[in-house]
Amino acid sequence: MPASEHTQTPVQYLPQWVDSGHDDRPVRSSTDEYTGRQRKLEYPPAPQPSPVPVVDNHTHLDFRDGYVRLTPTEVMDAAETVNVVGAIQVATDRESAQYTIAALDQEPRLRGAVAIHPNDTVKLAQDGTLDEAIEQVKEFAQHPQMVCIGETGLDYYRTEGEENWEIQKYAFKRHIELAVELGLPLQIHDREAHDDVIATLLSMDKLPEHVVFHSYSGDAQMASILNEHGWYASFSGIVTFKNNHDAREAARQLRQELLLVETDAPFLTPHPYRGRPNAPYMVPYTLYQLAQTRDQTVEDLGSVIFDNTQRVYGKFKAN
Ligand SMILES: [Zn+2]
Repeated sequence: MPASEHTQTPVQYLPQWVDSGHDDRPVRSSTDEYTGRQRKLEYPPAPQPSPVPVVDNHTHLDFRDGYVRLTPTEVMDAAETVNVVGAIQVATDRESAQYTIAALDQEPRLRGAVAIHPNDTVKLAQDGTLDEAIEQVKEFAQHPQMVCIGETGLDYYRTEGEENWEIQKYAFKRHIELAVELGLPLQIHDREAHDDVIATLLSMDKLPEHVVFHSYSGDAQMASILNEHGWYASFSGIVTFKNNHDAREAARQLRQELLLVETDAPFLTPHPYRGRPNAPYMVPYTLYQLAQTRDQTVEDLGSVIFDNTQRVYGKFKAN
């Protein structure tokens, strides 16, 4: 058992936890997207409570996984038992933006981010409704707890073809302009598109004050580019994956004032629970990995990361 493990899954995530009411959120597939094997659908044990408050910088509560069906408040109550005091709920399309607005209205520990996900831009462009959808993002972003434009960017892994990448680039630029206009930070989705993401950022006349690479997947060389421009790297569970030495080397390389942590739940569950469902209560595992990788105490690194989070997104209430 890892030293950081607390042994128990929060009660809200046990299969016998049943809430009432209708729930038509999309459910994640029970087979693994890489191996095609049946995934284990039990939520993992919680980590040891973090000694300092932590915020999950990127989560998708509108995407269900496993056997449970939780309200945003139940999610955050479970998270708070390990000192995860806030989370940023990321809306990727109109339905998830509507879910997100309702969640923000119910749950003061949540903040929101909204954008059209890069992989959804192509279909909208083909329908001739991409600009309209980005206009709607602007409207959703007016909610007082909406603190970020994202996730936007480029995904060359799931979307193929030069002309589709051009559509993604167009949407990425429109979202960057929107973040500048609204004075909000930007969360970037960059999957196998590092060079073009950086080139796009550098092609803009103006960038938002805070630019965040969500689930940072670059290497140490790219980390030096982030250091140079003062762009943030939000680390997900992938920094804990056994073979991912590049991510850990990048984590060592980055200036500490540019580090953030996230789950990208329900995906990217930290080692040794890879493939199982993920949730905001899991984010301390990634913080512990970063502290170990950088040879810093969890207290020191955790409080720097909490300060970084509040610099980018505004205040969260610490316990
Ligand atoms: Zn995401």
